Amino acid sequence: MNRFTYARPSSVAEAVHEVSTNPAAKLLAGGTNLVDLMKYSVERPTHLVDLTHLSGLSGIEETAEGGLRIGALVTNTAAAYDERVKARAPLLSSALLAGATPQLRNAATVGGNLLQRTRCYYFYDTGTPCNKREPGSGCPAKEGVNRIHAILGTSEQCIATHPSDMCVALAALEAVVKVAGPQGERSIPMAEFHRLPGDTPWQDTNLARDEIIVAVEVPASGFGEHHTYLKLRDRLSYAFALVSVAAGLEMDGDRVRRARIALGGVAHKPWRVPEAEAILQGATVTPELAEKVADRLLEGAKGYEGNAFKIGMARRAIRRALAQAAAGTPQSQTDKRIQ
Ligand code: SF4
Repeated sequence: MNRFTYARPSSVAEAVHEVSTNPAAKLLAGGTNLVDLMKYSVERPTHLVDLTHLSGLSGIEETAEGGLRIGALVTNTAAAYDERVKARAPLLSSALLAGATPQLRNAATVGGNLLQRTRCYYFYDTGTPCNKREPGSGCPAKEGVNRIHAILGTSEQCIATHPSDMCVALAALEAVVKVAGPQGERSIPMAEFHRLPGDTPWQDTNLARDEIIVAVEVPASGFGEHHTYLKLRDRLSYAFALVSVAAGLEMDGDRVRRARIALGGVAHKPWRVPEAEAILQGATVTPELAEKVADRLLEGAKGYEGNAFKIGMARRAIRRALAQAAAGTPQSQTDKRIQ
């Protein structure tokens, strides 16, 4: 591990000053991703800014509009088991509990979860090229081992996926990320927070280098009754999604008034297609309609040698998730068997 200097600011203003005056600074919160990356020499910060002592970022509050503001330093465990989150945004609680392990969830923060980096094998192996780690060096995943890689929104430069479960639920909930920078606070809708790889795969998000995340705001409509987070993976625990689906429906009897669907494990960001959601509006969820939704969500999907199976898997997951959400029978994250 390289040598680095260490700062422990006590206010958001101090933390912003630290990152805006030192281009090599990296933010540390739970450390569940960054410390791993430092051990592998993937990240070699010369200055670490420890955010864990900032005041005011560790709480969950109700907003004036009836939504929830979740501080960036709230742990994944605290968010998942908070009674207000469970009641108003159970989709978020469920997705959080689908992720990682209890030990990791106890340490990992909401802000860190948003900023976690891909688990592409080559990204972690500094003995191989990788455009995300070393711009211009190449992408061995396209011709190599790509079982966990993306099928949507890929580029010639990179086919990595975003690994988060939480972010998939936040995308379906149309949450907003609150960030602070030298010019003050601004809001970034979840749909615009993460980026597709394009020609700049090293840029995962639209967070500026001199900004820090201070909170996530979840709107009042959290799909309390009709939602599900369905995660398909190689092991029942401590495994990233091969495919996941966050589905939230507002129902009027057996008809859908409003639908939001986001896919995880398939792209460099949570994958939403508003036109697919519009297909459900005013309709009853049937297997045939779910097929049409899947067609639209997966339009343009492209598989590689090791991950083409994800296209069919995603189609089946979308069908199942919509049936679960419509019936009000969300996927259990305790008993992970998929019935
Ligand atoms: Fe690197 Fe992206 Fe290619 Fe993985 S998929 S090797 S992260 S460029």
